[in-house]
Parts: sequence; C-alpha cells; structure tokens
Amino acid sequence: MDQHLKQVEDQHVAKVIENLKKRKMNGYYIQSVSELNTLLDELVKDDQVVSVGGSMSLFELNVIDYLRNRNVNFLDRYAPGLSSDDINEIYFKAFNADVYFASTNAITFDGELYNVDGRGNRVAAMIYGPKKVVLITGINKIVKDLEAAKERNRKIAAPANVQRLNKKTPCHTTGYCTDCQSPDKICHAHTIISSQIDPNRMHVIFVSGNFGY
Ligand code: SF4
Repeated sequence: MDQHLKQVEDQHVAKVIENLKKRKMNGYYIQSVSELNTLLDELVKDDQVVSVGGSMSLFELNVIDYLRNRNVNFLDRYAPGLSSDDINEIYFKAFNADVYFASTNAITFDGELYNVDGRGNRVAAMIYGPKKVVLITGINKIVKDLEAAKERNRKIAAPANVQRLNKKTPCHTTGYCTDCQSPDKICHAHTIISSQIDPNRMHVIFVSGNFGY
C-alpha cells in the first residue's frame, strides 16, 4: 500500500480505537495474519468453548482453520455434514460460549458497531451471552457515522451477501437495497452496539487491508 494512504489508514484506526475505549470496548490494530494468530493465542485459552458468527472475514483471515487447530471446544457451524438441526443447536449453544468470534458490517469513527442479520443469531450473541466477543475486521468497515454504516450495508454488505447466498431479492439484480419484503430477504435485525457494561467483554481487532463485505 502507498505509504501516504497507510498513514491515513493508521490515523483512522487510532481514532476509532480511542473512541472504542470510551465505550468500554478494546481495540487492536495488527498488520498480518501471523500477528493476528499471536493475538488470538492471548485472547483464547486452551479448553475454552468457542463459537463463530457468519463471516467472510473470518474465512479470509484463516480464523476458522486457526480455531479448528487450537486445543479448544470449537462449536463449528461450518463442519461438514451438519444437518440444519445440528446447526441450530450450535446457534443456541453459542450463547454459553467463553469466546464468540464474528466481524462487523460497519464501525463508525465514534466506535459504534452496526450490524444487520437475517436470522439474528449472530447479532444476538454479540449483544448477550458469550463471556468474550472478538470481532475481526478489515479497515474497509470503518465509516463516518451511523448513516454511513446503514448506507454501507444497503450498498455493499447486504447485496454482496445476497449474491453469495444466491437469494432472489431485488438487490440481487440492482446491487442496492430497495427495502424489500421478499420471501428471500436477508435483512431482519438491524442493530447498534454502542458500549459495554463489562470492559473486558468486547474486543475489536482491525487488520490492515480490506476483508469481507
Ligand atoms: S432488505 Fe431486501 S433489497 Fe434490501 S438489502 Fe436486504 S434483501 Fe436486499
């Protein structure tokens, strides 16, 4: 990356991390997958119960494989051969996890986390249940404010997920949200996490570069 762009990226991340702290959330900024793994070695202890929310970023950054190779009790919703009942059971067990991994659809400069879910299991676990939540995100998710976060979801995250899941919604052909009520609609729960009670619960890891939607 151009060094001047990198300086701007560094400044943006530093500001978001500063604002997360005011909201009793912890921010980290790392430069590589190997640095990420070192940080995860510290945040996740052996034998802990770990689960994940749906996230392309976690795949792109090899977090799923990392967890499969750690000595933890990984509630792996992506394990081959699971029935829909098995996956639903994992969604419920995840509420009792020691550590829950996900990404975020957007994060504002002010440190608010904005997410939209279809089923709601991911945002529900981010809000309540798991003792620790670790969100891993590329710099591409940083936006100016909550309006920009909503716009990001309408223009990028939701239409890209619709393409990935091959849903028959208006945004599948337009690439932009038209607030549909389609049977295939994937946007049902719109959430803002603005702060935490427990300052040790929420951990947001920024990885230099663009990841996920
Ligand atoms: S509400 Fe409908 S049109 Fe809008 S992003 Fe979601 S699925 Fe697409």
